[in-house]
Amino acid sequence: MVIKTLTVIWFFVFVYYLFKILNKVYYQYKNMDFVVKSGEKLILKLDQEGIILETNDKFLEVTGYTQNDIVNKAGFLTSLVQQNENNTITLEKLIVFNGTKNNHIPIRLNDGSFLNVSWQVVHFKDFAGRIKYYLLVGEDISEISRIEEEFLSAKEELSNLYTELADTEEQIQRTYEYENDSQQKLIEYDRKHNFIVQALDIAVWEYDYGRQQPLFSTKFRELFNIPASYTFLMNKEEILSCIDIEDYYDFLETLIKCFTNGDSTFKVVLKVTPFNTNEIIWLETSGKGYYNEDNVLIYLAGSMLNITSNKQDEEKIRKIAFFDELTNIYNKRYMEDFVTSAIERGSLKEAALIFIDIDNFKNVNESLGYSFGDQILIEMAKRLTTYSEKNIVARLSGDEFCIFFHDMNSISEVEVFVAKLMNLLSETYSFYNIIYKVSASIGVALYPHNAHSFDSLFKCAEIAMYQSKQTGKNTYIYFDESMTVKIKERVELEEDFRAALGTFEDLKIYFQPQYDIKSGKLHGFEALARWISKKRGFVSPGVFIPLAEETRLIISLGKWILEESCKILREFQRYGHSELVVSVNLSIVQLMDDYFVNTVLDIVKKTGINPAGLELEITESILMESFESNVSKLNFLRAQGISISLDDFGTGYSSLTYLKVLPISTLKIDKMFVDNITHFDVDKNIALKIISLAHVLNLRTIAEGAEHAEQLECLKELDCDIVQGYYTGKPMPVENVYAILDKAMLEE
Ligand code: C2E
Ligand code: CA
Ligand code: CA
Repeated sequence: MVIKTLTVIWFFVFVYYLFKILNKVYYQYKNMDFVVKSGEKLILKLDQEGIILETNDKFLEVTGYTQNDIVNKAGFLTSLVQQNENNTITLEKLIVFNGTKNNHIPIRLNDGSFLNVSWQVVHFKDFAGRIKYYLLVGEDISEISRIEEEFLSAKEELSNLYTELADTEEQIQRTYEYENDSQQKLIEYDRKHNFIVQALDIAVWEYDYGRQQPLFSTKFRELFNIPASYTFLMNKEEILSCIDIEDYYDFLETLIKCFTNGDSTFKVVLKVTPFNTNEIIWLETSGKGYYNEDNVLIYLAGSMLNITSNKQDEEKIRKIAFFDELTNIYNKRYMEDFVTSAIERGSLKEAALIFIDIDNFKNVNESLGYSFGDQILIEMAKRLTTYSEKNIVARLSGDEFCIFFHDMNSISEVEVFVAKLMNLLSETYSFYNIIYKVSASIGVALYPHNAHSFDSLFKCAEIAMYQSKQTGKNTYIYFDESMTVKIKERVELEEDFRAALGTFEDLKIYFQPQYDIKSGKLHGFEALARWISKKRGFVSPGVFIPLAEETRLIISLGKWILEESCKILREFQRYGHSELVVSVNLSIVQLMDDYFVNTVLDIVKKTGINPAGLELEITESILMESFESNVSKLNFLRAQGISISLDDFGTGYSSLTYLKVLPISTLKIDKMFVDNITHFDVDKNIALKIISLAHVLNLRTIAEGAEHAEQLECLKELDCDIVQGYYTGKPMPVENVYAILDKAMLEE
């Protein structure tokens, strides 16, 4: 009896709520229908040029514009649309490309505010198929989305009720007196509910586990283009096969995750190819599951929103974000994303990051022009991507490319790959009837051997690439730990050297004497830079001079050396050694500097030396870069009375034709020849040739690096003029120089 009474009470409560909710849903559905059916649309009639010919009252009422503002006003359509980067679709594009598709484009109202409008375009054509005019039909969707939202929430309540209904169905059935009546209600409820779902403009689906019944709205059928004869029960597999397989499994996974976590809502995006089409649409599917008291899922419902146009925009943005504009291959950001997510997913076992840098690409641009350079980069990107289809190829910047070799099985595989890659890149490139060859320097870093993150892997590959550049380019090198150590050391060295340049305390100039071979008289000194660091001890010029050149610190170091050397030369000259020569080494960086000539002139003036005692040493190789301008600077200095000597002669280009045009007065024969002068006839012969040639050209010859009496004897025999070597005197601090000067004075 008690149960009977309770059931009766419950049933009345149920019917009350059911009625209330259905009423709400029905009212809202009517509301939506009202918006659609009544003359509530915004209508614009346009000619082929997009000029508005006519508009309806609703448009004027909603937007606040007058007929005068709109009709026959060129450009009005453009100004109507809110311009921002998120809104790449304009009404014009919509008219031409999108035909009858629905599109959401907000418009600017007369008061400056914006209104969300969904637009449809109708093309009106004449009999010949020519466009007569367009009709733009807009619908204020802010209202519709609000209603849709409310509708969904009402539907949710409905679905809750639905389950309660299923729950109690059994109970009700047991209650004989009401059985017929409740069945009747159920049928009626189902009918109404069905009606609402089918009338909805968004795709809706439901699955009732209790009754094993799926339900799909008309819109759902439309979206999937499901043939009329199909039912979900009979053709379930085919219908589901429209969904991209990966997305489908992701969807199932989301559902399982959601329901095992006890969540009730879910949202996924599905890629769908509707029946009998090749097109792809993107559907945002969101929904809700309902559980009974025992926590068993009994009812699932969801809606599907076609977000294809958003997706296409996203795709466009993605393209801009992840692709290199020039070569149309991936960029560094993509590479980073790809590698990072592969690492995070744990799907990466072994891999190699290959860093490629074209050698001397600057020359290509400078000599053949940027468009030729661009063609090479485009062609290179093509070669790399075709060669390395399975891997990720990206252009990092300028002439740098990168390949991520995932799926690596062994190091030898990478070895073969990179070796072939070098050949591929160095095959000739031919554009605009010019055939060109380039080479590349490559650095390889291995995952997980060298690093565990993209950033550090990338650094390692870059370091290895620099290393291969230093080894003489056109080669590849694998990263190893010692390289980082080297880089760290180099950074510290630079810091220390900068500090030394701050005070000049640890910097010294040593002087190595030069003697006239025949007479034995002191000729002069070569000034040689010394860094005697408190922290590091003696640092070889072979180490700090290249460092100073790379960092351009040589400009201030060189200026200091020149000034100090000139001060000392001035002392020598005051001391009565007016014939002594002090030679100072010059670096190309100094010579190329715009202020170089002025710096020298200033120092000469400031120290008050007789410029005849100053000699500047340059090497052949440095002269060849920007030959004209270098030679004219040297000519100018020579005209001031300063001598120029050509250092390390015989090691570089040794072009005899240049010798004639250079404003030099001295040739310095490299130590390399002097070393072997007593051992090999070839070297002796070369030295002889150089000396005779110098004399023909009226140049003085200085032999460098004589360490033994025999060498000196031999040089004398070859008629060399001057010697500078450990045998006759090592480089020494200026204090020691005075003893030599005194000795020289005594000998006179
Ligand atoms: P360099 O201009 O060819 O200088 C001659 C080098 O040969 C000096 O080395 C000198 O100490 C060394 N040397 C001279 N005679 C002998 C010998 O009999 N045996 C041996 N084993 N070596 C001898 P250092 O001073 O180490 O300089 C090395 C290089 O560093 C110089 O070669 C020069 O290119 C550069 N350098 C030194 N000081 C300066 C400078 O002030 N400015 C610039 N730009 N470069 C400098
Ligand atoms: Ca020198
Ligand atoms: Ca030399």
